[in-house]
Parts: sequence; C-alpha cells; structure tokens
Amino acid sequence: MKRVCVYCGSNIGRQPGYAEAAKDLARALVKRQIDLVYGGASVGVMGVLANTVLVEGGHVIGIIPQTLVDREVAHPGLSELRVVTSMHERKTLMAELSDGFIALPGGLGTLEEIFEVLTWAQLGLHRKPCGLLNIGDYYRRLIDFLDHAVAEQFLDPVYRAMLLVEEQPERLLERFEGYHAPAVARWVDRAST
Ligand code: AMP
Repeated sequence: MKRVCVYCGSNIGRQPGYAEAAKDLARALVKRQIDLVYGGASVGVMGVLANTVLVEGGHVIGIIPQTLVDREVAHPGLSELRVVTSMHERKTLMAELSDGFIALPGGLGTLEEIFEVLTWAQLGLHRKPCGLLNIGDYYRRLIDFLDHAVAEQFLDPVYRAMLLVEEQPERLLERFEGYHAPAVARWVDRAST
C-alpha cells in the first residue's frame, strides 16, 4: 500500500483521545511508508493528523475544494495541496489516489465520505479496504446500527464485513495489508433475484 485516505473531523472532538488516535495513526502510516491522502484542512482532527505525519517525516497530499480553502483553513505546509473545483472532484481524486480508506472520529462529512467509498466497494467499483477506527467506542451506535441493518435484511453480511472495525491504527493497517475483497460484488438481496 502506497497511499491511504483518512477521513476525520474538522472539529477536534470532546475527548483528547480523538486527537491522540490521529497522532497514533499518523505515526503508524509513516512507519509503514504509507503516504496520507486527506481533505487538506488545518483544523480539527484533520489538522492534527496532517501535522503529525509531516513532523514524523511523512508525505501528505491534501485535496480541498476552492470553496473550503478559507472555511477549513487549507493547510499551508503540506507536501502537496491540490485545490479542486467541487466536492465531487475532491472525493473522486481522494478515492483514485488511495489504496485504502479509514475513518477516524468525525461528523457528517466523515460519515458521508466513508459510506460513499463503502457503497462503491459494495457495487464492485473498487476492491480497496475500508476501515473504521472506533476510538473510545465513538462509533458504537453506528456499528450496532449496521448489525441491525443486517438483522433486518437490508444489508448483506458480506458487505457489512467490508467495513473493518478496529481500535488500534496498527492493527487496522495490518488487516488492510491482508485484505481481499469478496469475489462477487452483488448489491441486491439474493432472494429477490
Ligand atoms: P466533518 O466530519 O463534518 O467535520 O467533515 C470532515 C470533512 O468532510 C471536511 O473536510 C468536510 O469538508 C468534508 N465534507 C463535508 N461534507 C462533505 C461531503 N458531502 N462530501 C465530501 N466531503 C464532505
């Protein structure tokens, strides 16, 4: 794996553990010589993540739409900053450049981004690993909801299993290295075909 995309909050969150986890993930990426692809902001968990990769001597590619350059304070010191014209272009480029996708704690933007790449995996549009870092059990209710969606037969367990959930960045990256996407991508209930 050469590059991993990380989605995370533009806010810092209430618990110091969220920023600490961003630092741990940053160090784990640099240790494995994996470049970071992220949203290009200097604020919140995003800023902590990028700063730590840079301080540790790693490579960071930020991708930000022009409209957010001021609002999210585009990071001025990245290895590469790509300013794009739209949110769609941002997400497409992040996905194209990356060999895997991780969500640290974050808000609506983070959720939207990880679920979009997960739905692309479900459709077989890519075969790259997607993971959730469940720091301080932040994502517990979301994980439980996905299991509920499986129980209610709206989500195939095969696709539920595509979202790797770990608490330790190192462990998640290890699982990424050994990840094999399910052979057949289907997105409709077998019983209805
Ligand atoms: P948040 O998790 O809401 O703090 O947002 C984290 C990042 O996601 C920020 O860089 C936001 O600009 C970005 N974001 C917010 N909404 C979207 C969206 N619809 N598509 C892609 N990125 C988004």
